[in-house]
Parts: sequence; C-alpha cells; structure tokens
Amino acid sequence: MKKLISAIIPCYNEEAVLPLFFEKIVEVADSMSDEADFEFLFVNDGSRDKTLQLLRDFSKREPRARYFSFSRNFGKEAGMLAGLKNCRGDYAAILDADLQDPPGYFVEMFHILEEGEYDCVNLYREDREGEGKIRSFFSNAFYSVYRKITGIQLRSGARDFRLMTRQVVDCVLSLEETNRFTKGIFSWVGFNTKWIGYKNVERAAGTTKFSFRSLIKYSVSGITSFSTMPLSIASGVGIVCCLVSVIIALYFAIKTLIFGDPVAGFPTLVCLMLLIGGIQLLCIGILGSYIAKTYMETKQRPLYFIKESSDDKKE
Ligand code: UDP
Ligand code: MG
Repeated sequence: MKKLISAIIPCYNEEAVLPLFFEKIVEVADSMSDEADFEFLFVNDGSRDKTLQLLRDFSKREPRARYFSFSRNFGKEAGMLAGLKNCRGDYAAILDADLQDPPGYFVEMFHILEEGEYDCVNLYREDREGEGKIRSFFSNAFYSVYRKITGIQLRSGARDFRLMTRQVVDCVLSLEETNRFTKGIFSWVGFNTKWIGYKNVERAAGTTKFSFRSLIKYSVSGITSFSTMPLSIASGVGIVCCLVSVIIALYFAIKTLIFGDPVAGFPTLVCLMLLIGGIQLLCIGILGSYIAKTYMETKQRPLYFIKESSDDKKE
C-alpha cells in the first residue's frame, strides 16, 4: 500500500504566489507518485483577494486538491489546526504558500520517515539571509529566552514545515487548548524529530502577512501558553523589593539614631514610590495576562468557522 501524504497549506491573501506554488507541489507529487500519494489541503484564512477563486479552480482541475475556506481571517494557527483536523494522510505536513518551505524537501522527508526511526522531520533555517537585522535579532533573542523560561527546546529558525506520522498528528490534535502555539506544541508532544537545515529562501511573490507587532504578540502568547515562570519572576521581583526596602529603612533608622541626621528624603521617596508602583503594575499586568488566558480558554470558543469547502461539492 502506498502511503498518503497530506500537504496542508494555510493561505492568506496569497493570489500572487499560489499558482506558482501549486505548479511546484504538483510537480513534486508527480515525481513521487511511485512511492506515495498526495492530497493538497489548502486552508483559505479569510483572504480578501482572489485566493479562494484560485483554490476553487485548483480543486476542479486536480482531484488531489482540497480546500477549506474560513468565514474570516482567524490566523495561521487556526489554519494549521483546521488542516490537521481534516487531513486524511498517513503522513501530514504543513507548509507555507510562499515557497519559503520548498516542497522539494518532501522527497527527503518522506524517505526519512519511511526508515521508521523518526516520527517527524522538521526543517529549520540555518541562516536568516534576506531578513531584516532587527527582526533577526529579536527572533534569536526570543528563542533563547523562550528555551530558558519554558524549558521547551525550540530550535532557532525552526519552520512549521514538518512531516509527521498520523500518530503525532493525533497527539497534536488531542491538545484542545484555544491558545495554540504550534511550534511549542510540536516540541511538547515529544517523539523523535529529525532536523534538516536549509538556506533561507525568500518569499517567491507577495508580501509577508506578519507585522512586527503581531510577531511580538505571538511570542508573548507562546511563552505564556507554555510556562508560568513569568508569574514566579513577578513574585521574585516583589520579594527582592521588600528586602531592599527593609534594608533601606534600617539604614535610615540607624543613621538617624546614631548621627541624629534628619532624613532629607523627598527625592528618594519619590523615586522609590515610582519604582515600586511601576513594579507592582508590571506584576499585575503579568498576572492579568494569565487571567485573560484562562478567561479565553473557559469560553471554549471554536477556533474557526468553515464557510465553504471542496468536500461539500465532491461528496
Ligand atoms: N497565513 C495565514 N493566516 C494569517 C497569516 C499568514 O494563513 O493570518 C499564512 C500565509 O498565507 C503563509 C504562511 O501563513 O502561507 C506564512 O506567512 P508569511 O509567509 O507571510 O510569514 P513569514 O514567512 O513572513 O513569517
Ligand atoms: Mg513566508
């Protein structure tokens, strides 16, 4: 029996690059047709351009192509989840539509999984050529802070492009949290992962869908989803502040008692008040972000709505 590989492709306003991508992935699938079957599962994440029309057209032309279209933009995480939930493959992989995850790697990834020793094969970028300096700096800083805080071994430059077995897919799906940070989830579920490094490829066409702001938001949410250490840090800072204030109080008390110096403390007082007030607000903020997370989780809202899918038509 030939194995079925599901290629999951989240797409958001990708009209510029989709035709090219489709051509490439069909080519790869054809070249592997002796050893594996493919299904291409496109998830249209509420695009406002011609993406959906293109996907409809692909699924008409190509029996291996399927698509799901969301009722609005729900984000890439939701797209990946919908893809994993609906894929039928023995193996599944997620890849970007912009050809930054070269579909050609399917051949190598598939062979590694077939050997049976590994459960996942994951691509990572060895360099960040073509990416802004500031973005690279923050990105690298994020990965090292992330590893320290959460203890989750995220590889710097890890892509979402990984081919995994059905068993891994089912484990990933069994995590029902609303705040999904897929990179962390992949690592958290365990299994043997083989890492393949490759040179960064620039987007084939179109523009990035992630602003710097959205990446910062995503990073913070990635940390709070996997660790409560920031809460402990907040408590730690609180304790240190208390200790320091006791020491300062003692220092002034002794100074006054022994030297009879009146404390001319107005500026000191203002500074201390501001410092402690600031720290308190920061800690409340951290606490608040966790409460907010809990609040969102308890709502148990669906993560996306599918408005239209190729399956409606085929069956
Ligand atoms: N994407 C998505 N929903 C979004 C944003 C992005 O499905 O809200 C998809 C996008 O179409 C692409 C992939 O996620 O296939 C990665 O996006 P992009 O290439 O813009 O990110 P970058 O490579 O710049 O980090
Ligand atoms: Mg990209």
